[in-house]
Parts: sequence; C-alpha cells; structure tokens
Amino acid sequence: MKKKLVILGGGESGVGTAILAKQKGYEVLVSDFGKIKETYKKVLTDFDIVWEEGGHTEAAIVEAAIVMKSPGIPDKAPIVKTILDHGIPVISEIEFAAKYTDAMLIGITGSNGKTTTTSLLGYLLEQAKLNVGIAGNIGDSFAKMVAQQSIDTYVLEISSFQLDGVVDFAPHIAIITNITPDHLDRYEYEFDNYIAAKFRIAMNQTPEDYLIYDADDPVITDWLKKHPVRSKLVPFSMKQTLDYGAYIEDNKIHINTDNNHFSMTTRDLALKGQHNTKNAMAAATVANLLSIRKATIRESLEGFQGVEHRLEQVLKIGNVQYINDSKATNVNATFYALDSMSAPTVWIVGGVDKGNDYRDLYPLINEKVKAIICLGVDNAKLMSHFGNMVDIIIETQSMTEAVKIAYKVTEKGDNVLLSPACASFDLFENYEDRGRQFKNAVRNL
Ligand code: ADP
Repeated sequence: MKKKLVILGGGESGVGTAILAKQKGYEVLVSDFGKIKETYKKVLTDFDIVWEEGGHTEAAIVEAAIVMKSPGIPDKAPIVKTILDHGIPVISEIEFAAKYTDAMLIGITGSNGKTTTTSLLGYLLEQAKLNVGIAGNIGDSFAKMVAQQSIDTYVLEISSFQLDGVVDFAPHIAIITNITPDHLDRYEYEFDNYIAAKFRIAMNQTPEDYLIYDADDPVITDWLKKHPVRSKLVPFSMKQTLDYGAYIEDNKIHINTDNNHFSMTTRDLALKGQHNTKNAMAAATVANLLSIRKATIRESLEGFQGVEHRLEQVLKIGNVQYINDSKATNVNATFYALDSMSAPTVWIVGGVDKGNDYRDLYPLINEKVKAIICLGVDNAKLMSHFGNMVDIIIETQSMTEAVKIAYKVTEKGDNVLLSPACASFDLFENYEDRGRQFKNAVRNL
C-alpha cells in the first residue's frame, strides 16, 4: 500500500510538495482550511492530486504516515493538535524536499536580510556559471524544483516557520543574518523560542559544514556560547578584525576563509547601507568558501540591482529621491533604512504595530528626519512617540495623500522614505501592495 502524505495548506510550498510527493509514489491529499488559488487548483488537478478546501476532513487526514504543514499555519491550529495527538510526524517542505536531492544546500535565515542575501548570493553564483536554484521563501518552491529540475547548488531562503518543521535537514553552508524579536506571537511570546527556531538551521550540521553569522549581534553570539554547534563558525563583523571570517578595515571588506583571501572597497558595493554591507559580506563569504573567482565576486557585488521593496530607489523628482522600503515591517529593518539616509528625510511610517519599541530609532530621527507622515488606521502610538521630535508630523490613512504631503514638505536634495516598521494589513493587502501603491503615487505626482 502507498504511504499517505497529507499536506496542510495549498499555497506555493504545499503544491510544490504535492508534486514531489506524487512523483515519489506517495498517496497525496492537499487540505486547506481556506480557499486554494485557482492557478494552484489547476496544477493539482493536472497532476492528479486530491485536494480539499474550506475545511479539513479529519478522518482522511489522520490516516497519514506523515504530514507536511505549510509555514503559515500555526502549531496552535486545532487540526495540527489532532495530528500530533495521533503521533503523526509533522514536517516542513524543506525537510521533505531535501531528502530527494543530492545538491549542495546553502540555507539562509535571520530576522532581516534573508531575501536580499539569498537573491544576491543566487545572482553571484549564477554569474559564476554554477547550476544554481534559488528557492525557499522566494519564488518557486524548493520541492517543486527538486521534482522538476536537476540542480547542483540550492540557495534557500528559510523562515523560522520552515525551520520549526525540520528533523534531519542539514545545509552544507548556513547563514544567520541577525536575530531581533519578530513573529513572537508564534513563539509563546518567548524570544528564546524564536532564537532556538533560527538555530535549527545548524542543528544537523557536522564539522565539515559552515555556519556564517553576524558576530556583532549579541543575541547570536550569546546563544552560541550557551549552545555550541558542530559546524565550523565563520563570523562576519563591521566592528572587529577577524583572522577567520569577514570584516571591514579602511573601508574595505576583507574575507579570510581556508586559504582564500578576498577584499574589495565598500564604496563599490551596489547595495547601499550598513545592513547591505553585512548582507554582501555574508554572500561573499559563501563565494569565498566555494572558491569562486575573486573578479566574479567583485563584479557581482558591484552589479546586483537589489530586490523590489527593499530600499528601492523609485524616482527622483525635483531633486528629491523617493525610496520604497515597504518590506521594513519591523523596527530593526527601519533602523538600517534610516541609518543609510545621507540627506534630510521625510519618513512615512506606520501600519499594524507588532508591539514595537521605537526607542532605538530616536537618535536617527533626531539626526536625519525632518518630517514624519504617519500612515495607519491607528496612529496614536506614533504621534505620542514622535510628536515632540520633529517640527512636522502629520497623519493620514491614504498612500496617495501621504505622498502628496511628502512632496509638499520636501526641498531640493531631500529624501522621501517609506519604511513603515509595521505590518501592512490595516490599509493594504500586503507589503507588496503597499510598496506598489507608493510607487504609483510617486509616479503620479
Ligand atoms: P527578509 O527576507 O529577512 O524579510 P529582506 O531582505 O526582505 O529580509 O529585507 C527586509 C527589510 O529589512 C528591508 O526593509 C531591508 O531594507 C531590511 N534589511 C535588509 N537586510 C538587513 C539586515 N542585514 N539587517 C537589518 N535590516 C535589513
């Protein structure tokens, strides 16, 4: 009899897993509590995969030998409890898919910078002519690529939710970009639970594997002291020189790994801002470990155009630069956005506050921000925190109006920065929608 794999959630990772599982001879059921998108339904039907939506048929689900839970579904969901009560293992897509590929796996996690670092590294390895797949939380699902393509090296963006469902997954090279509080609602409001989830990326690594991490991040270094890993540690730092790893000296990135030395001036990096210098160090460290040609590393870091909604330069109007950083959904991301501003800035902020502590931003606001536009359904917290810090603070519930106000209060040489530090779903569908509305409003000025 065929083994049964039940997949909770009919999105990108669910459908990808279904395709791979079907190919490997499983009896597959995709079960979604909500609605499955028409495009995904069509794929499932084309592959002859059984699916249901608008609820879960418990009797069919508890027959499973194994369950793949999509990352968006919390452990608290009643169906997950039922499955666990039946003693059925619950895993994530990366855990399932990794079993069916011999490719080298590079896994990237962290609170901020995952997509940027994954895209940058993917681009770099493509420039180096490697046969590379960029997957995970980004683009096509990893499982689908494993089913349909023959790839030598995967660069995987991995969220903590994907890591929650890991048992044997072991990337040869792992990156933890940084760890700051986020998504705590999914971790019983315990920061330690969230940190532990991130470190599951290194859980199954061996001494032949590598863990690249930000040595300036005390959350990471403290955790490593208390919970050592087996893999080889490759730190990167903006603050200290390192014999092994990556660091900055005289405005140059230096990387030393196993007999490979790489250096380049930070001025030549295409992506601006300290945070992006860190992302570049992490990506270049991987390239150095893989002995990619130095010229290729350098050209890639100079040529990479960045990812939409991450400090994206939209337009210059009347010598005012408009910047879309809609992906900044937490305070840490906004910290680095403000930090990278080199001109007086009109800052558009707000949305759904996830328990933000804004104090870290105060010095940057004093130094860089000339006006604040609060864009959210409830702006009271922002108004009370920032009301006394700038001369101009205005609230609105409309992106078009926010951009028009910004246009009015700017002078030649200023920046207008959308970096909300908050989630978007009070006024927008998601952060992409928020970023696109911003760009449209700017283009319509
Ligand atoms: P993620 O995929 O982890 O959400 P992104 O690359 O999409 O990360 O970036 C999310 C936000 O964080 C953007 O606003 C970006 O400018 C900012 N950011 C990018 N890299 C870093 C970093 N290393 N540290 C802090 N913030 C960062």
